[in-house]
Amino acid sequence: MKNLWDPIEANKCQSDLEQRVYSSRLLGRDATLVLHGGGNTSVKVRERNVLGEEEEILYVKGSGWDLETIQVEGFVPVRMAHLLKLAKVDALSDPQMVNELASQVTRAGAPAPSVETILHAVLPHKFVDHTHADAVLAITNTASGEARIREIYGAEVLILPYVMPGFDLAKACAREFETKAKPSTIGMVLMNHGIFSFGATAEESYGRMIALVDRAEKYLKQRNAWDLTIADTPVAEKPARLEIATLRRDVALTAGSAVVMSTYSDPQSLAFARAADVRDVSQQGPATPDHVLRTKRLPMLGRNIQAYAEAYREYFSRNAASAKEPKTMLDPAPRVILDIEFGLCCVGPSAKEAGIARDLYSHTIDVISRAEALGGYRALSEKELFEFEYWDLEQAKLRRAGMRPVFGGEIALVTGAASGIGRACVEALLRRGAAVVGLDIDPNIATCAGSRPDYLGLHCDVTSEGAVANALEAGVRAYGGLDMLILNAGVFPAGTPIEKLSTEEWRNVLSVNLDANLTLMRECYPLLKLVPTGGRVVVIGSKNVVAPGPGAAAYSASKAALTQLARVAALEWGGAGIRVNTLHPNAVFDTGLWTEEVLKARAESYGLSIEAYKRNNVLKTEVRSMDVGELVAELCGPTFAKTTGAQIPIDGGNDRVI
Ligand code: ZN
Repeated sequence: MKNLWDPIEANKCQSDLEQRVYSSRLLGRDATLVLHGGGNTSVKVRERNVLGEEEEILYVKGSGWDLETIQVEGFVPVRMAHLLKLAKVDALSDPQMVNELASQVTRAGAPAPSVETILHAVLPHKFVDHTHADAVLAITNTASGEARIREIYGAEVLILPYVMPGFDLAKACAREFETKAKPSTIGMVLMNHGIFSFGATAEESYGRMIALVDRAEKYLKQRNAWDLTIADTPVAEKPARLEIATLRRDVALTAGSAVVMSTYSDPQSLAFARAADVRDVSQQGPATPDHVLRTKRLPMLGRNIQAYAEAYREYFSRNAASAKEPKTMLDPAPRVILDIEFGLCCVGPSAKEAGIARDLYSHTIDVISRAEALGGYRALSEKELFEFEYWDLEQAKLRRAGMRPVFGGEIALVTGAASGIGRACVEALLRRGAAVVGLDIDPNIATCAGSRPDYLGLHCDVTSEGAVANALEAGVRAYGGLDMLILNAGVFPAGTPIEKLSTEEWRNVLSVNLDANLTLMRECYPLLKLVPTGGRVVVIGSKNVVAPGPGAAAYSASKAALTQLARVAALEWGGAGIRVNTLHPNAVFDTGLWTEEVLKARAESYGLSIEAYKRNNVLKTEVRSMDVGELVAELCGPTFAKTTGAQIPIDGGNDRVI
């Protein structure tokens, strides 16, 4: 454990709250301490309100903020006096607690304060830090966890057996603190949940957290339970895209909506999935309760989705019967899958959320493996985890995440995606919530949409069948399948009359604009066929198909043949629910093809200004890449759900086409 406190950075902070932000972010930077919204921090300050009265305010992490990126606005100011009175009440239901907290917030529009707010209030120190440190969980989640924690920390920390977070936990902490805290108490361990530290300054509280977790790490090291040796398993990655996509289809059908499923065949994941005791160690529960919301209580072993869903339904009925209020079952699909061939597959409604499930589970693997080395992993009981999974306050957080975008959980592949129309398609699809695989021969493809979990840019020469196969394999491993195929890559060579057109140039144009698309369609068909709501293909044709121009024989012929290929595909694939439509753009000038000089020369040859030339169509409007990208995305969406085999011009109106 490294203490990252930097006095120069810390001294830039103007207030206690800014120091709180600074040290919270230090905690957030270490994934072995907190992950994705896990953990929370607070600071107590005295402030003067608008009436000139001084009051004590607790600034506590707001719901929806992540410690790694939290800002001043991420902390919610709540009146301490009321919180301390609340802590004395005998019982408080969840809705009452939420109401009390919300009505004592002093800044309108602040996020909901953490469900641990009262707990932070009852701890008498100015700064309070809370994490779900891997090293601590590896020790608490064992049969003799409590004795081991006592052995490591002695009287320096208080130890609480597991209590469901919320009001009851706050009460239990307050009681423990009042009766057992000593001047030497610097922290508190919550069994099977995490650890708190506290102090008079941000530096002291943060430093204590690091020191406490460091002692847990050293304890594990001394018992050979820290450095995990990964069994030397061969990572033979044979092509598996159809099997992976079939599994994703089954998960989506069980979940009731499209999902992203990311597959990780790294040595750690494979070794864990193939371990002889995987059934014993993986079928207990997560390392800390809030993981249950992203990973579900148990990962699925293998691919029997019916059996998993059935077991989940039984788990629900068993536990819902004794719940305090009626519960509605969530979808019974797994979020984490351990498979001896694939390794680890993580599922979510988006690439980002599948990635979160992966981060949580890979840390869970570490915690389980270390706890096993220490004598045996022991998770919370099924009943305790059910209570957390179906806790209204946690479900409300997920509901606040908002409506699903139109392509949420869906996956698109775009060729020629690094620039122009292809790039615009990528952006339009990302905006609608799809995960997108972009292919291009331009090496910038990897980074052209920025670094984000829902975009994978792959360098690929689409005329190479091997390269296409590799790209599809990588795309399916990243996101789980393919729902939408956008065939955009093409070349437009400079005008060559037929008498001067070499066979080589002709073949080159046809190989990119036509042959490559046959390969892509043929290889993608088995994936598109799996899409429960129907796969979609959009082909970028050209105005030249219906209104060819002199000097563009190879281009016009290739696009005409491609259009015909798309029409036949619409006929052949309609039975499988796959829609194939073609767009015919014209005069899209904001692409790499059209430099300022070329545009100027062409405009001059028509005796027009550049502006007039760009709008030289029936509607006198400029057609931009973005317009084409938007129409491509719409063609894949519900508006065109009953259209296939269509050819739609997007050219501002062309009198030769009309
Ligand atoms: Zn916690």
